[in-house]
Amino acid sequence: MSVVDADGLTFTYASGTSPAVRDLSFRIDRGEIFGFLGPSGAGKSTTQKVLIGLLRGYRGAVSVLGRDLAAWGADYYERIGVSFELPNHYLRLTGAENLGYFRALYRGETRRPEALLEMVGLADDAARLVSEYSKGMKTRLGVARALLNDPQLIFLDEPTVGLDPVNGRRIRDLIREMKQAGRTVFLTTHDMTVADDLCDRVAFIVGGEIRVVESPRTLKLAHGARTVAVEYDLDGASGRREFPLDGLGDDADFLTLLRTATLRTLHTQEATLEDVFLRVTGHRLDQESGPQNST
Ligand code: ADP
Ligand code: MG
Repeated sequence: MSVVDADGLTFTYASGTSPAVRDLSFRIDRGEIFGFLGPSGAGKSTTQKVLIGLLRGYRGAVSVLGRDLAAWGADYYERIGVSFELPNHYLRLTGAENLGYFRALYRGETRRPEALLEMVGLADDAARLVSEYSKGMKTRLGVARALLNDPQLIFLDEPTVGLDPVNGRRIRDLIREMKQAGRTVFLTTHDMTVADDLCDRVAFIVGGEIRVVESPRTLKLAHGARTVAVEYDLDGASGRREFPLDGLGDDADFLTLLRTATLRTLHTQEATLEDVFLRVTGHRLDQESGPQNST
């Protein structure tokens, strides 16, 4: 059963001349980590804001948790969790106080702020004012806040951006734990390693349009070079050669090399998700991509 079902989702900002996102169609299944991967300006945050009910007046059909998005009322926020790209915390409150404040807004059961702060590595900073937090700490507090109501569906907008390796790993582990607990995660990122590491399926989004929706593995296999690179020593000199993976067993040069040379390394060449993104979309992930003009 799908948790999010979008068909032809289009959204234009009041100040915009063309849609920020156009004709997006995708389904997210229960228990899935679904990624929106695309460069800055592609429309990832806009999509998240539509899906959480923050931006109204979209076109297309969108249902979330079995109900038309437009038909959800305030109880929607009891069911979902959201972390924003630019977290909106109360700077004059401590981290623990922020969670305590937002916790009180929920009618249903909530998780203990102390436990959540521990999970995002902020236990030692619980009593510090958020105005003293770094950008990465605010992002982690935002992720903790998104989990207060133990939501079925969690929206995370760039949850690992600007985090050091240890805390980046911590947040990734946390996202995997959400999945293991049966939760559904909508994750936006412009970081291909995050998408590759975490996502069951990714949508490549550029200029407000989805180009492909697939699992990272399938994408890499479909677009990988499918070669084997061999580094070797032969007759006192070192060398490197690549051979096509297909028909390798009948490749006379490869077989001769195997018999005569001393092999140093032997690797299949795999495309990274970033390579695939460039190949499929013609865009690089680190280049700005605003809305396409209609033609
Ligand atoms: P991403 O999250 O992928 O970086 P956004 O969804 O933030 O992309 O932006 C998509 C497009 O919508 C961009 O061209 C951006 O300039 C535009 N946009 C974003 N927010 C607004 C806004 N509040 N008003 C007008 N245009 C906006
Ligand atoms: Mg964004």
